[in-house]
Amino acid sequence: MTAYERCRVLLRFADLIEQHNDEIAALESWDGGKPLEQSAGAEVPMAARCMRYYAGWADKIHGMVVPADGPHHVQVLREPIGVAGQIIPWNFPLLMFAWKVGPALACGNAVVLKTAEQTPLSALYVASLLHEAGLPEGVLNVVPGFGPTAGAALCSHMGVDKLAFTGSTGTGKIILELAARSNLKPVTLELGGKSPFIVMDDADVDQAVELAHRAIFFNQGQCCCAGSRTFVHESVYDEFVEKSKARAQRRVVGDPFKKGVEQGPQIDGQQFKKILGYVKSGVDSGATLVTGGDRLGSRGFYVQPTVFADVEDEMKIAKEEIFGPIQSILKFRDVGEVVRRANATQYGLAAGVFTGSLDTANAVARALRVGTVWVNCYDVFDAAIPFGGYKMSGVGREKGPYSLGNYLQTKAVVAPLRDPAW
Ligand code: NAD
Repeated sequence: MTAYERCRVLLRFADLIEQHNDEIAALESWDGGKPLEQSAGAEVPMAARCMRYYAGWADKIHGMVVPADGPHHVQVLREPIGVAGQIIPWNFPLLMFAWKVGPALACGNAVVLKTAEQTPLSALYVASLLHEAGLPEGVLNVVPGFGPTAGAALCSHMGVDKLAFTGSTGTGKIILELAARSNLKPVTLELGGKSPFIVMDDADVDQAVELAHRAIFFNQGQCCCAGSRTFVHESVYDEFVEKSKARAQRRVVGDPFKKGVEQGPQIDGQQFKKILGYVKSGVDSGATLVTGGDRLGSRGFYVQPTVFADVEDEMKIAKEEIFGPIQSILKFRDVGEVVRRANATQYGLAAGVFTGSLDTANAVARALRVGTVWVNCYDVFDAAIPFGGYKMSGVGREKGPYSLGNYLQTKAVVAPLRDPAW
């Protein structure tokens, strides 16, 4: 297919996603339990936006001619890498599909994508829309299946030329190993996090409380970049804890299909149990349980919005990814201290900095070892903004032009330049 044809297929696909917004959003909420208003108002439109963004790149990917030393004509070609294997998680099934499939197809590759076992529906549905948009049979293959069987087979396959994965750090390590043991296919990984949300003494406290709340509770707390360590300056700490408690108690939890619901159930029984286990660990290690801490009601995997105060760096709830609606608030005294503590983790995905000082914001943003820093905001996403982690939060970047390099090979073509006879 020509580059321009690929562009047009992806543009038509984006239109179809928008036309089918309601059905796709309903599938997403059915499968994953997220509030319908969030699926319909954010996840589906963002997936369409991502496809349009990469449609725009399709016919702007090209090589160059290099002025190498000596009488040679040197071209550098950018070619599709081949067959891309992609493995996505259950927390944002459609958006993860878009982040992976968009750049792979824009660059001219074929794709085999494995959905998470909990959430296969939206990817299967939109794959049929992609064919309706004009993608030839066989170019995109959606394979639902289990991780250790279908997922591992994809990672070990000698005919797969590249892997992209989003999920837990533990599984990311297995995937790298499988790639290394088979054909050394390059791997990009978007993994877990324990992202700090830092509130300085000169921050707008009410705004910081609200955004810290959303940073951790959004999507039932099931976000890789959740602001799961809320660091608050001692001078505003007590006020912050009181207001965070009130906000968590106001959070509307319930049937994801009901209007006004902010939080649905957790993805499954396993995660539900794991989250309640972390709550117990927080209480046992001496953190102050400010509100919540139990299941909500007696049916379904609903967890009460939970806030812990007086959390210390060494507690399990401050170190491990909980992936649930559990806020941990930690106290700090000065900027240098909080930067050191924020960085003292195996993860490095994202961070939030709340301050009224531009100097503090700039200095702290540069000192944090994370892939994204949000200043006086949080969870601001766009297809054009790169996303990915430092340290054990990942390898490589997705979105923006950074994704393109993941799906391209670079070829040098060198030929002699003859002196003209004339
Ligand atoms: P996971 O990482 O095991 O699953 C993610 C994807 O990887 C799924 O598609 C799964 O089928 C696949 N997979 C699992 N084992 C595999 C293997 N051996 N080879 C190839 N593919 C494999 O995550 P999970 O078990 O569903 O959740 C466990 C924890 O992971 C969560 O509690 C959370 O902390 C974290 N998590 C993080 C993200 C994220 O976006 N960073 C997403 C989901 C889960």
